[in-house]
Amino acid sequence: MCYAVMAHVTDRDVGHATDEAVTVTAVVTNLLANVQLAKQAIVNLASAVPMEADCACHHALQEAIITQRDAVPERARKELELLVGKYLA
Ligand SMILES: [Zn+2]
Repeated sequence: MCYAVMAHVTDRDVGHATDEAVTVTAVVTNLLANVQLAKQAIVNLASAVPMEADCACHHALQEAIITQRDAVPERARKELELLVGKYLA
């Protein structure tokens, strides 16, 4: 799996006939619970993905950077090192 979307619902006041009004407290409570779920999901996913996995999407940025390498400011290089450092060398 190269890409995934993780979406969480904080309330369901649209499309549901309910007597209960959605409150900020309820939304924030659900949001915070969702954050914990998301964090755990990332931990689980990271430990399940093989480090040696490779496919074309892992190199998609290789041909996408059209800026001349010597025109990339040092600050930008440092900020982008994790993502594109290997392509700016
Ligand atoms: Zn891929």
